[in-house]
Amino acid sequence: MHESTSSFDTVVIGAGPVGLACALEIQRRGFTVCVVDKGALVNSVVGYPNQMEFFSTPELLEIGGYPMPTNHYKPLREDALDYYRRVAQAEKLTLRLYERVIGLEGEENHYEVVTTKGRIATRFVVVATGFFDVPVKMNVPGEDLPNVSHYYKEPYTHVDQRVVVVGARNSSAKAALQLLRAGAHVTMVVRSAELSPSVKYWIRPDLENRIKEGRIKAYFNATIQEIRPTEVDIATPEGLITLPTDFTYALTGYRPDYSLLDALGISTQDDAARTPTHNPDTFETNRPGVYMAGTVCGGLNTSRWFIENGRYHAAVIAAHLAGEAAPATPQVLQPVQMSK
Ligand SMILES: Cc1cc2nc3c(=O)[nH]c(=O)nc-3n(C[C@H](O)[C@H](O)[C@H](O)COP(=O)(O)OP(=O)(O)OC[C@H]3O[C@@H](n4cnc5c(N)ncnc54)[C@H](O)[C@@H]3O)c2cc1C
Repeated sequence: MHESTSSFDTVVIGAGPVGLACALEIQRRGFTVCVVDKGALVNSVVGYPNQMEFFSTPELLEIGGYPMPTNHYKPLREDALDYYRRVAQAEKLTLRLYERVIGLEGEENHYEVVTTKGRIATRFVVVATGFFDVPVKMNVPGEDLPNVSHYYKEPYTHVDQRVVVVGARNSSAKAALQLLRAGAHVTMVVRSAELSPSVKYWIRPDLENRIKEGRIKAYFNATIQEIRPTEVDIATPEGLITLPTDFTYALTGYRPDYSLLDALGISTQDDAARTPTHNPDTFETNRPGVYMAGTVCGGLNTSRWFIENGRYHAAVIAAHLAGEAAPATPQVLQPVQMSK
């Protein structure tokens, strides 16, 4: 248990890549900073599939000017975990891990961040809580069974097992291919008429060809209706089918934790993405002295900001806190496609 009397100039909520980028940029300008995370350091990346290859090349994931060493063209999850750990250590960031933030009291210059372990006094707050903690649910019976998960980690627990993968984006495509190659019997259930256009060009033909040759069975225009311990019901254009199944991965996406934003007093715009209210030039929210950074800024549009472009929020916020002119990086703050 930490003492509730700790006091910092800035508390960063979320020790993801963008939260760490914010912490080091702000600390470099002479402010004291504490990073609080409800889980491990870079908790979301810890939760990604083992050996997952990032889509981005290493220089696009770097923060604080530290080069990311990797033997591969694209870094693996493990490269990134080691890299962000080393950056946090090199910058001597103050970390409070496995401590969930549940509220925020007070006002600018006199805030108290309320956590599951106490309170932290701070002048400013940066919310960098990402989107990986709240899965988008299918809302079907059986979704909470132990043989259903919204998080895919690795294939070897499924050798010779019948596995259903729900979804048609990159995560589903990669999981289906990996499971197949580890000896699972894979069926994909895809709500739309085809794979998502966002599936990367180097993944798509592999999956399409495995579907064509019948090694992966795919139902398009299809939705899961119910999951039971040994079978699933799928609504298809040809009618309802029941498929014997050992495990289901519902890789149907994630969304920011709006209940946390509510608890922090951050309002939401009345737009399709339910964008959390913030000034796009400074990233300050409707609550003075409270900023937001990284994926959470896009609300339900979780592909609006990712590591490549979200890391620049750090420089903008740090400059604003320090009373400096905004950094000259407007082009990277425009909506961009993740690196091809
Ligand atoms: C499988 C996959 C592959 C990806 N590949 C790429 C890629 O190649 N390139 C790229 O640029 N992006 C990629 N992304 C997207 C990228 O990983 C995210 O956009 C990125 O993690 C965003 O960083 P962040 O710091 O904003 O949020 P996160 O990394 O999600 O960090 C948020 C942190 O906040 C913490 N937190 C949440 N709530 C609380 C709370 N109440 N109290 C305390 N802490 C809290 C979480 O534990 C977490 O550690 C990928 C995403 C996925 C899912």
